[in-house]
Amino acid sequence: MTALHYTLHPAQPHAHIFEITLTVAEPDPAGQTFSLPAWIPGSYMVREFARHIVRIRASCADHAVTLTKLDKHSWRAAPCMGPLTVWYEVYAWDLSVRAAHFDTTHAFFNGSSVFLAVEGQTHRPHRVELLRPSGESYRDWRVVTALPEARGKGGARRYGFGVYEAPDYDALIDHPVEMGTFALAHFEACGVMHDVAITGQVPNLDRERLVADLQPICEAQIRLFEPDSAQAPMARYVFMTMVTSDGYGGLEHRASTALICARGDLPVKGQAEMSEGYRSYLGLCSHEYFHTWNVKRIKPAVFAPYDLRRENYTRLLWLFEGFTSYYDDLILVRSGRITSQDYLALVEKNLNAVLRGSGRHKQSVADSSFDAWTKYYRQDENAPNAIVSYYAKGALVALGLDLKLRAVSRGKCSLDEVMRLLWQRYGRGWYTPAGACQGVPEEALQAVLVEVGGAALQPWLEDFFARYVEGTQDVPVAEWLPALGVEAVLAAADGKSSQPAKPSLGIKTGNEGGWVKLTQVHDGGAAQQAGLSAGDLLASLGGLRVTPGTPNALDALLARYQVGDMVEVLAFRRDEALRTTVQLKADGALQYRLSLMAASGRRRPAWQALRTAWLGER
Ligand code: ZN
Repeated sequence: MTALHYTLHPAQPHAHIFEITLTVAEPDPAGQTFSLPAWIPGSYMVREFARHIVRIRASCADHAVTLTKLDKHSWRAAPCMGPLTVWYEVYAWDLSVRAAHFDTTHAFFNGSSVFLAVEGQTHRPHRVELLRPSGESYRDWRVVTALPEARGKGGARRYGFGVYEAPDYDALIDHPVEMGTFALAHFEACGVMHDVAITGQVPNLDRERLVADLQPICEAQIRLFEPDSAQAPMARYVFMTMVTSDGYGGLEHRASTALICARGDLPVKGQAEMSEGYRSYLGLCSHEYFHTWNVKRIKPAVFAPYDLRRENYTRLLWLFEGFTSYYDDLILVRSGRITSQDYLALVEKNLNAVLRGSGRHKQSVADSSFDAWTKYYRQDENAPNAIVSYYAKGALVALGLDLKLRAVSRGKCSLDEVMRLLWQRYGRGWYTPAGACQGVPEEALQAVLVEVGGAALQPWLEDFFARYVEGTQDVPVAEWLPALGVEAVLAAADGKSSQPAKPSLGIKTGNEGGWVKLTQVHDGGAAQQAGLSAGDLLASLGGLRVTPGTPNALDALLARYQVGDMVEVLAFRRDEALRTTVQLKADGALQYRLSLMAASGRRRPAWQALRTAWLGER
């Protein structure tokens, strides 16, 4: 089968332009159609990457070929015998993990931003020649990607410019590429080489520590899915990280992940403690790595294959993102990176965050998944009142199922077995030559849970799904945690339940040009009842100016009042003054404190073995 050929030249660093040529040896004689994806798998929002194509033209045997634009992301070339060459420029100035970014310091791209798909030929091999930017200052640049180097003539060497290849278009766009002068570190996990590439200036980066922490995280995950063979599903893996002053985010791929983190999150040589930033960076790496199994291979049926032209609706993102969010931190404790108490603090934070938003009683996690494209990914100021996160509540669904499976089976089974069965049935075959692959049907999970937990669990599961997955009830994890040796105590939001409740306005604020701006106004809160809205600027409370900048300046003013007090507020909506009286309310959110139970007396408590197995306690 003839391959498709691309060349990608980072041609104009100051204008952030990639020049790309695509040669199709055997174009459709009736007129060849090309298109760029409307979205990138893993980030469920239509982004219309083709809007960044600045110029495009086609030619055949040195003659220009007319290109007709068909819609916002496709073109058709006039009929020609071939080979047909399309030349185009892509503007790359989006510093995120989702698109492309290029300047004099580095180039990064996802294939979905730069490689046009050739309609009717996406199943063919795709070869791409990566060219070095022109000029002396790019002499030191290297390339890192999980895209395999092409064999034979022109094939790239590891970390070099040259030709890379993919078996099909789906693979071509599932291996992001970083070029530049990144720092590199390596480690082996279960026999598979892992690269860690860090782009951006990080003085005194402790690469040894990074590698020493990532290695056990990766091994723990490989062994979770393949306890007998410890076989990883990829031949090589690449963690690529872009460092900025305050970034955070990641996107999963089949054999790599693109991450953005804050400089302060990365470990400095000589510092031994686990900072909150570093812990969250390891959690992010753990999260994206878990996706290598859960969503890149165990994937919803509607993603097999992806339709890259439009939204692909699934009600299961709580399984693919929520369960991944559950396991990302769980793997940190199981692999010995954090303590059990640190882990509980993370569970507690997530639980309390979910309990803060009233949107959780209006949207189920299944609906949140389905509407990810227009709601979760396009959140506005009303989001906490209207939606629930399929990540955060999905993690509680996973926790609830895991607690229950472990408790009722007395430790004989757990959510780990559920993940393994999903893996064997729906995941293992993907991207392997012999693989028979299918996606997870929308209704399949309950049956898999019954298979693992036993038929006696079925009525309980039906009720669980009706209440917490398709319904909008809170997952009662606080009731189930004690069976695994974790105490969950309801506390006032301020953590001091013996004190009188703190008065609250029911808002979230930000700083805008020296003003305190209401960024969110919570349903039923004091501010909403007084007629204040998101976007309003708060000028004074009780006759005293409200100043931003000092943390808690507003809290300090509020602390002088009690719940039920009437307080005069002056605000501005746009440029018009707004005078109102607020009746302060108690912060009504339920908040839990979680702690490890201690064994007392001589008898081993029933929860001890269960908790040891769950958290991997030594
Ligand atoms: Zn994720």
